[in-house]
This record gives sequence, C-alpha cells and structure tokens, in this order.
Amino acid sequence: MSQTVEEGDLDFRHFRCCGDEDLYPFGCPRCGRLMVFCYECDTLHGDLNDLGHPGSWVVNNFDTSAPIFSCPQCAYPFEYFFIRDGKYKTSFDQWQSQGVSHLLRSDHQPSGANAHQGLSVEIGGVPVDLNAGMIQAVTNPPQGFISKFSFDQSDLAARWRMIPWFARCGQ
Ligand SMILES: [Zn+2]
Ligand SMILES: [Zn+2]
Repeated sequence: MSQTVEEGDLDFRHFRCCGDEDLYPFGCPRCGRLMVFCYECDTLHGDLNDLGHPGSWVVNNFDTSAPIFSCPQCAYPFEYFFIRDGKYKTSFDQWQSQGVSHLLRSDHQPSGANAHQGLSVEIGGVPVDLNAGMIQAVTNPPQGFISKFSFDQSDLAARWRMIPWFARCGQ
C-alpha cells in the first residue's frame, strides 16, 4: 500500500498565500493533477510547477451547495467539503512521478517509519487519518452555542419548596 501525502509532509516554504498557511495536499480523481489547498484563506495552489500565482483560480468560499472549485486541467468539480472524507488524498508515488516531490519535506520521504505521528489507524484494513474530521471543524467552525431556553433569575428557594421531594427533606 502506498503512503498518502499529508499536510505535515509538505514543505510549507514553497506555499505563500496568507502567511498563516494551513495546507491540504490532494489530487484530481479524473486527470490526476496534484494540487494544494490552503484552508486557512481558501486559496487554491492549482499549479505545483508554478507556485508564484496563488489566487489565480476561482474559489467559491460561501455557497456550500456549489463546487468549491474546478480542476484547472479537466474541470472536474470538487464538492464544497471535498476535504472532509479524505478521498482526494494522494500517494508519495504520485508526487514523485509528477516531479513535484521537492515540495515535500525531505525528512518525510516515503520511509513510512515516522509518518503521521501515530494519528492514523486502520479500521477494517482501511487507513483512517484521525485528524481528517478536525479539518472540517477548522475550515467551517460551528456557530457559537445558543440555547433556545432563556435563563431568568428567580426565587429558587421558593420554587424548591413547591417540589414535594425537596419540601420533605429532613423530615
Ligand atoms: Zn493561505
Ligand atoms: Zn483534473
């Protein structure tokens, strides 16, 4: 089984978009083009052979019912939450065969020994990245919790005395 390229495998020095880069490496399932998406600032690094133009590709960052962007090479539409299931992850073999493995950290080449820092487990023979679900929490954080109940101050002691169990305490 080939090892997948994860965020921690990328050499961040090559990717410049927002200065606070959170990068997701992935590939197009139709044409195999390799790309990197910054889920901090919603920037697609769509051409790994020419990284000097971040922002050249249109990214939809508000309409969750529409594709987030299309593959620059074959127009494959990536669904808005394409990161969520990790299904567009790529292998070290793909990065090497496309000549872009220099964008990976040299100490993360496919030895496999120290990959994932123990954050990947096998469930039913399928490797599952335990961080995969957290990315979504970062890219699309839930709204602040708002209770549908109100909390009015009231005379608690008086209310307790109306409840039989409390009223008989000590009897
Ligand atoms: Zn960015
Ligand atoms: Zn494509």
